[in-house]
Amino acid sequence: MWRIKRAVLMDLLEAARNAYPDEFFALLGGNKREKIIDEIIVVPAEYGRTSTLIKTWLVPFDSRIAGSAHSHPGNYNFPSSADISSFAQFGELHIIMAHPYNLNSTRAFNVKGKGEKVEVVE
Ligand SMILES: [Zn+2]
Repeated sequence: MWRIKRAVLMDLLEAARNAYPDEFFALLGGNKREKIIDEIIVVPAEYGRTSTLIKTWLVPFDSRIAGSAHSHPGNYNFPSSADISSFAQFGELHIIMAHPYNLNSTRAFNVKGKGEKVEVVE
């Protein structure tokens, strides 16, 4: 099971709230072997109300990149087909935060878009 540091998750939720009504997108950094997410990697992106264009050619190669996180301005917190097709280029674990951006409106998915349990750790 993947784990995520509470401070990282709280920062993601705050960034999603700040970006609202636009989408927020970031990469997740951590230790893939130990399956722990411990940092946010902000990448250049154009944020929009319905989609976020990530400039993938500007994403650094970083062996700590383990996944992605993005927000949905609505309350639907499942990946779109576009989300699922983009997951593979960003790693294994993908977090979707829906409005109003709290723990209950947040879900995690694997690279195929299937629900994934994540433990929040200190
Ligand atoms: Zn999405």
